[in-house]
Amino acid sequence: MKRDTGQDRNVTSKWRLQTQLVRGGTWRSEIGETSEAMFMTSGYAYDCAEDAAARFAGEQEGYTYSRLRNPTAAMFEDRMALIEGAEVARSTATGMAAISSTMLSLVKAGDHVVSSRALFGSCRVVIETLMPKFGVEFTLVDGSDHAAWKAAFRPNTVAVFLETPANPTLDVVDIAFVSALAHEHGAIVVVDNAFASPVLQKPMTMGADVVVYSATKHIDGQGRCLGGCILTSEAIMEDIILPYLRHTGPNISPFNAWVLLKGLETLDMRVERMCENAAKVADALAEMGGFDYVRYPGRTDFAQHDLAMKQMTMGGSIIALHVSGGRDRAFNFLNALEIIDISNNLGDAKSLITHPSSTTHASVTEEARLEVGITEGMLRLSIGLEHPDDLIEDLLKAAGMAGIK
Ligand SMILES: *Cc1c(COP(=O)(O)O)cnc(C)c1O
Repeated sequence: MKRDTGQDRNVTSKWRLQTQLVRGGTWRSEIGETSEAMFMTSGYAYDCAEDAAARFAGEQEGYTYSRLRNPTAAMFEDRMALIEGAEVARSTATGMAAISSTMLSLVKAGDHVVSSRALFGSCRVVIETLMPKFGVEFTLVDGSDHAAWKAAFRPNTVAVFLETPANPTLDVVDIAFVSALAHEHGAIVVVDNAFASPVLQKPMTMGADVVVYSATKHIDGQGRCLGGCILTSEAIMEDIILPYLRHTGPNISPFNAWVLLKGLETLDMRVERMCENAAKVADALAEMGGFDYVRYPGRTDFAQHDLAMKQMTMGGSIIALHVSGGRDRAFNFLNALEIIDISNNLGDAKSLITHPSSTTHASVTEEARLEVGITEGMLRLSIGLEHPDDLIEDLLKAAGMAGIK
């Protein structure tokens, strides 16, 4: 059975986002199921040996093995490509599988990579520890410093990696500026868009060549499964990334791809509501006045507010907070919360709070943490879908109990 979505990309690309999120990439089997089918299969049987040979030779369309492609994963990928406005997508088991596969497929020994230094902990490990093991050099820059970006390029720079807004500090990088600069040097730009989600920010419209996601975050958004996605042009995927993916096998399970595909149906409503809730919570916390700072890209007192709102349609679902009194008071505050869970995930329907220096960024050195502002009093709050007043009451009560006022 040949898989053909029956969808014309010229037509579906003109659908509005909400229609794409619900219907993009859907392929129906002859049974006519309304909800996309889950093809929990590793392999595929052929009518005859000649068909098997033809498929391996690329002369016949169809599936051969789920490490190469799976129909359920393909539906997720086609829908992701449509909403991102990318030519193609490939899904992976985790966000880190998407990021490490992309970066490792782009480089060879002797190459150089430039990256913003405010990154998710594991991304820093890939760039600072893993890639140098294979002879790849790197330069980390302050993402907001244009002169630093300019000075970082070398003749052997082949790729740029950045995250915006960055985890957990919410630092914003000017995607259009960095992309134009990178292209002058012939480097490929990879943007980790996990914090904004494809609903709020479209890096490829600003010049990025590759967009990577941890689909674990807003795309699942209900704390169920891990997943990742790589989106780019057909040329970069075919020539650079697929040869790596096909033979190293960081694939997503069809089950997880199915969960994420269903997650996309409600992504827009969830993200929009989470942003509205986050804006209300950020305002209430700022008004309370006891925190050293309340950073939220949607607030006008956010240092990079103008750039953030130029790149994103809303302020996002994440707030960064700082309490004085270091780790002890930060922990007392977390421990006093009753509704909001202490958890290092984000983008979930449930509001979650974490202490980055002892969790998500425990794997980077203290010096590297302090350089990007991850101090012992810093907290990352991911706002979910509960009623914002309940969240505000929970936070204010816990702040009172922890002596934050
Ligand atoms: C969570 C996260 C990742 C890693 O994704 P996993 O799905 O946990 O592997 C990478 N980048 C950012 C910005 C993240 O928030």
